[in-house]
Amino acid sequence: MRTPLIAGNWKLFKTISEATAFVTALKPLVAEVQGVEVVISPVFTALSSVAAAAAGSRIRVAAQDCYWEEEGAFTGEVAPGLLKDAGCSHVIIGHSERRQYFGETDETANRKTRAALATGLTVLLCVGETLVQREAGDTFTVIESQITGGLQSLVAEELKQVVIAYEPVWAIGTGKTASDEQAQQVHAFIRQLVAKLYSQADADQILILYGGSVKPENVKGLMSQPDIDGALVGGASLKADSFAAIVRFNS
Ligand code: PEP
Repeated sequence: MRTPLIAGNWKLFKTISEATAFVTALKPLVAEVQGVEVVISPVFTALSSVAAAAAGSRIRVAAQDCYWEEEGAFTGEVAPGLLKDAGCSHVIIGHSERRQYFGETDETANRKTRAALATGLTVLLCVGETLVQREAGDTFTVIESQITGGLQSLVAEELKQVVIAYEPVWAIGTGKTASDEQAQQVHAFIRQLVAKLYSQADADQILILYGGSVKPENVKGLMSQPDIDGALVGGASLKADSFAAIVRFNS
Protein backbone atom coordinates (compact mmCIF):
# COMPACT_ATOMS: atom_id res chain seq x y z
CA MET A 1 0.00 0.00 0.00
CA ARG A 2 2.89 2.39 0.78
CA THR A 3 5.67 2.55 -1.81
CA PRO A 4 9.06 2.48 -0.04
CA LEU A 5 11.26 5.52 -0.45
CA ILE A 6 15.04 5.55 -0.16
CA ALA A 7 16.51 9.05 0.02
CA GLY A 8 20.17 10.03 0.09
CA ASN A 9 21.22 13.16 1.97
CA TRP A 10 24.60 14.29 0.68
CA LYS A 11 24.93 17.15 3.18
CA LEU A 12 27.89 19.40 2.31
CA PHE A 13 29.61 17.00 -0.09
CA LYS A 14 30.18 16.75 -3.86
CA THR A 15 30.93 19.30 -6.52
CA ILE A 16 28.64 19.61 -9.54
CA SER A 17 30.79 17.25 -11.61
CA GLU A 18 31.04 14.70 -8.78
CA ALA A 19 27.28 14.87 -8.28
CA THR A 20 26.43 14.37 -11.95
CA ALA A 21 28.98 11.54 -12.26
CA PHE A 22 27.22 9.88 -9.32
CA VAL A 23 23.87 10.09 -11.14
CA THR A 24 25.39 8.58 -14.28
CA ALA A 25 26.76 5.71 -12.19
CA LEU A 26 23.56 5.23 -10.16
CA LYS A 27 21.07 5.19 -13.04
CA PRO A 28 21.85 1.71 -14.40
CA LEU A 29 22.20 0.31 -10.88
CA VAL A 30 18.62 1.20 -9.94
CA ALA A 31 16.93 1.07 -13.34
CA GLU A 32 15.51 -2.43 -12.81
CA VAL A 33 14.37 -1.98 -9.22
CA GLN A 34 10.62 -2.15 -8.95
CA GLY A 35 8.40 -0.49 -6.37
CA VAL A 36 10.94 1.76 -4.67
CA GLU A 37 11.14 5.54 -4.96
CA VAL A 38 14.66 6.97 -5.12
CA VAL A 39 15.58 10.51 -4.08
CA ILE A 40 18.99 12.18 -3.84
CA SER A 41 19.71 15.45 -2.15
CA PRO A 42 22.76 17.40 -3.32
CA VAL A 43 23.90 20.86 -2.26
CA PHE A 44 21.96 23.82 -3.71
CA THR A 45 24.56 24.60 -6.36
CA ALA A 46 24.31 21.11 -7.86
CA LEU A 47 20.51 20.79 -7.86
CA SER A 48 19.76 21.80 -11.43
CA SER A 49 22.67 19.82 -12.91
CA VAL A 50 21.68 16.73 -10.93
CA ALA A 51 18.04 17.13 -11.96
CA ALA A 52 19.11 17.40 -15.63
CA ALA A 53 21.35 14.33 -15.27
CA ALA A 54 18.52 12.37 -13.61
CA ALA A 55 15.85 13.38 -16.15
CA GLY A 56 14.05 10.40 -17.64
CA SER A 57 15.17 8.08 -14.82
CA ARG A 58 13.43 7.04 -11.61
CA ILE A 59 15.74 9.28 -9.56
CA ARG A 60 14.09 12.35 -7.99
CA VAL A 61 15.89 15.32 -6.50
CA ALA A 62 15.51 16.97 -3.09
CA ALA A 63 16.97 20.12 -1.62
CA GLN A 64 18.31 20.00 1.94
CA ASP A 65 16.42 23.07 3.18
CA CYS A 66 14.37 26.03 1.98
CA TYR A 67 13.02 29.36 3.17
CA TRP A 68 9.33 30.14 3.68
CA GLU A 69 9.09 33.31 1.58
CA GLU A 70 8.93 33.15 -2.21
CA GLU A 71 10.98 36.31 -2.76
CA GLY A 72 12.16 39.47 -1.09
CA ALA A 73 15.07 40.96 0.79
CA PHE A 74 16.24 37.72 2.42
CA THR A 75 19.92 37.50 1.54
CA GLY A 76 21.23 33.98 1.29
CA GLU A 77 17.88 32.21 1.37
CA VAL A 78 16.37 29.93 -1.29
CA ALA A 79 12.62 29.83 -1.91
CA PRO A 80 10.59 26.65 -2.55
CA GLY A 81 9.59 27.94 -5.99
CA LEU A 82 13.25 28.28 -6.93
CA LEU A 83 13.83 24.69 -5.87
CA LYS A 84 11.03 23.58 -8.17
CA ASP A 85 12.51 25.72 -10.90
CA ALA A 86 15.85 23.92 -10.38
CA GLY A 87 14.12 20.55 -10.86
CA CYS A 88 13.41 19.44 -7.29
CA SER A 89 10.37 17.39 -6.37
CA HIS A 90 11.25 17.08 -2.68
CA VAL A 91 12.81 19.11 0.12
CA ILE A 92 14.26 17.97 3.44
CA ILE A 93 13.08 20.15 6.32
CA GLY A 94 14.07 20.17 9.99
CA HIS A 95 17.14 17.95 9.70
CA SER A 96 18.82 17.61 13.09
CA GLU A 97 21.96 19.34 11.78
CA ARG A 98 19.81 22.37 10.87
CA ARG A 99 18.25 22.23 14.34
CA GLN A 100 21.64 21.83 16.05
CA TYR A 101 23.80 24.31 14.11
CA PHE A 102 21.44 26.72 12.37
CA GLY A 103 18.69 27.46 14.87
CA GLU A 104 15.91 25.48 13.18
CA THR A 105 12.90 25.11 15.47
CA ASP A 106 9.58 23.34 15.12
CA GLU A 107 8.07 26.71 14.28
CA THR A 108 10.50 27.49 11.44
CA ALA A 109 10.26 23.91 10.21
CA ASN A 110 6.48 24.34 10.10
CA ARG A 111 6.68 27.62 8.17
CA LYS A 112 9.05 26.05 5.66
CA THR A 113 6.87 22.95 5.38
CA ARG A 114 3.76 25.00 4.63
CA ALA A 115 5.56 27.10 2.02
CA ALA A 116 7.10 24.04 0.35
CA LEU A 117 3.74 22.25 0.21
CA ALA A 118 2.07 25.32 -1.25
CA THR A 119 4.65 25.18 -4.06
CA GLY A 120 3.92 21.52 -4.74
CA LEU A 121 7.09 20.05 -3.27
CA THR A 122 7.01 16.89 -1.16
CA VAL A 123 8.45 17.53 2.29
CA LEU A 124 10.71 15.11 4.15
CA LEU A 125 10.14 16.36 7.69
CA CYS A 126 12.88 15.18 10.06
CA VAL A 127 12.37 14.49 13.74
CA GLY A 128 14.47 12.70 16.34
CA GLU A 129 15.62 12.70 19.93
CA THR A 130 19.14 13.25 21.25
CA LEU A 131 20.91 10.66 23.40
CA VAL A 132 20.32 12.74 26.52
CA GLN A 133 16.60 12.91 25.74
CA ARG A 134 16.43 9.16 25.10
CA GLU A 135 18.28 8.33 28.29
CA ALA A 136 15.98 10.65 30.25
CA GLY A 137 12.98 8.69 28.90
CA ASP A 138 11.78 11.66 26.85
CA THR A 139 11.86 10.13 23.36
CA PHE A 140 8.10 10.02 22.80
CA THR A 141 7.49 13.48 24.29
CA VAL A 142 10.17 14.98 22.03
CA ILE A 143 8.89 13.22 18.93
CA GLU A 144 5.31 14.22 19.71
CA SER A 145 6.16 17.89 20.09
CA GLN A 146 8.36 17.93 16.95
CA ILE A 147 5.60 16.33 14.91
CA THR A 148 2.71 18.41 16.26
CA GLY A 149 4.86 21.53 15.84
CA GLY A 150 6.09 20.60 12.36
CA LEU A 151 2.62 19.71 11.08
CA GLN A 152 0.84 22.62 12.80
CA SER A 153 -2.21 23.82 10.81
CA LEU A 154 -1.65 21.40 7.92
CA VAL A 155 -4.83 19.87 6.55
CA ALA A 156 -5.17 16.19 5.63
CA GLU A 157 -4.86 16.96 1.92
CA GLU A 158 -1.46 18.58 2.51
CA LEU A 159 -0.33 15.66 4.64
CA LYS A 160 -0.38 13.49 1.49
CA GLN A 161 2.75 15.38 0.37
CA VAL A 162 4.56 14.91 3.68
CA VAL A 163 7.01 12.13 4.49
CA ILE A 164 8.24 11.88 8.07
CA ALA A 165 11.86 10.89 8.68
CA TYR A 166 12.59 9.56 12.15
CA GLU A 167 16.28 10.14 12.74
CA PRO A 168 17.52 9.57 16.28
CA VAL A 169 20.27 12.17 16.62
CA TRP A 170 22.54 9.71 18.44
CA ALA A 171 22.48 7.45 15.37
CA ILE A 172 23.29 10.07 12.72
CA GLY A 173 26.81 9.79 11.37
CA THR A 174 27.89 7.81 14.44
CA GLY A 175 27.81 4.30 13.02
CA LYS A 176 25.29 3.45 15.78
CA THR A 177 21.99 2.36 14.27
CA ALA A 178 18.84 2.06 16.30
CA SER A 179 17.95 -1.60 16.56
CA ASP A 180 15.12 -2.74 14.31
CA GLU A 181 12.87 -2.94 17.38
CA GLN A 182 13.86 0.51 18.73
CA ALA A 183 13.16 2.09 15.36
CA GLN A 184 9.87 0.20 14.91
CA GLN A 185 8.69 1.29 18.35
CA VAL A 186 9.08 4.98 17.48
CA HIS A 187 7.68 4.54 13.97
CA ALA A 188 4.57 2.87 15.40
CA PHE A 189 4.23 5.73 17.87
CA ILE A 190 4.48 8.28 15.03
CA ARG A 191 1.82 6.46 13.01
CA GLN A 192 -0.52 6.39 16.01
CA LEU A 193 0.12 10.07 16.56
CA VAL A 194 -0.78 10.85 12.94
CA ALA A 195 -3.97 8.80 13.39
CA LYS A 196 -4.80 10.87 16.47
CA LEU A 197 -4.02 14.21 14.77
CA TYR A 198 -5.66 13.29 11.44
CA SER A 199 -7.29 9.91 10.80
CA GLN A 200 -6.39 6.24 10.61
CA ALA A 201 -6.57 6.45 6.80
CA ASP A 202 -4.05 9.31 6.80
CA ALA A 203 -1.82 7.39 9.21
CA ASP A 204 -2.00 4.31 6.99
CA GLN A 205 -0.85 6.22 3.91
CA ILE A 206 1.93 8.38 5.35
CA LEU A 207 5.51 7.27 4.69
CA ILE A 208 7.77 7.13 7.75
CA LEU A 209 11.47 6.77 6.93
CA TYR A 210 14.20 5.75 9.32
CA GLY A 211 17.54 7.60 9.28
CA GLY A 212 20.71 7.04 11.27
CA SER A 213 23.68 5.06 9.95
CA VAL A 214 21.64 3.03 7.47
CA LYS A 215 23.95 0.80 5.42
CA PRO A 216 23.57 -2.07 2.96
CA GLU A 217 24.16 -4.46 5.89
CA ASN A 218 21.34 -3.22 8.13
CA VAL A 219 18.71 -1.93 5.70
CA LYS A 220 16.94 -5.27 5.23
CA GLY A 221 16.23 -5.71 8.94
CA LEU A 222 14.97 -2.16 9.28
CA MET A 223 12.79 -2.45 6.17
CA SER A 224 11.25 -5.67 7.46
CA GLN A 225 9.58 -3.72 10.27
CA PRO A 226 5.89 -3.01 9.62
CA ASP A 227 6.05 0.76 10.16
CA ILE A 228 9.38 1.49 8.47
CA ASP A 229 8.67 2.62 4.92
CA GLY A 230 12.12 3.62 3.77
CA ALA A 231 15.36 5.26 4.75
CA LEU A 232 17.04 8.64 4.79
CA VAL A 233 20.70 7.83 4.25
CA GLY A 234 23.67 10.11 4.89
CA GLY A 235 27.17 8.62 4.70
CA ALA A 236 26.24 5.47 2.78
CA SER A 237 24.50 7.54 0.08
CA LEU A 238 27.77 9.15 -1.04
CA LYS A 239 28.90 6.12 -3.05
CA ALA A 240 26.72 4.91 -5.90
CA ASP A 241 27.31 1.22 -5.17
CA SER A 242 26.43 1.39 -1.46
CA PHE A 243 23.43 3.65 -2.09
CA ALA A 244 22.23 1.32 -4.88
CA ALA A 245 22.61 -1.66 -2.54
CA ILE A 246 20.31 0.11 -0.07
CA VAL A 247 17.79 0.90 -2.82
CA ARG A 248 17.89 -2.80 -3.75
CA PHE A 249 17.21 -3.91 -0.16
CA ASN A 250 14.61 -6.34 -1.42
CA SER A 251 16.69 -8.21 -3.98
C1 PEP B 1 21.32 11.91 7.78
O1 PEP B 1 22.14 12.81 7.64
O2 PEP B 1 20.13 12.17 7.60
C2 PEP B 1 21.81 10.59 8.18
C3 PEP B 1 20.94 9.68 8.53
O3 PEP B 1 23.17 10.37 8.15
P1 PEP B 1 23.93 8.94 8.35
O4 PEP B 1 23.23 7.93 7.48
O5 PEP B 1 25.34 9.21 7.92
O6 PEP B 1 23.81 8.58 9.80
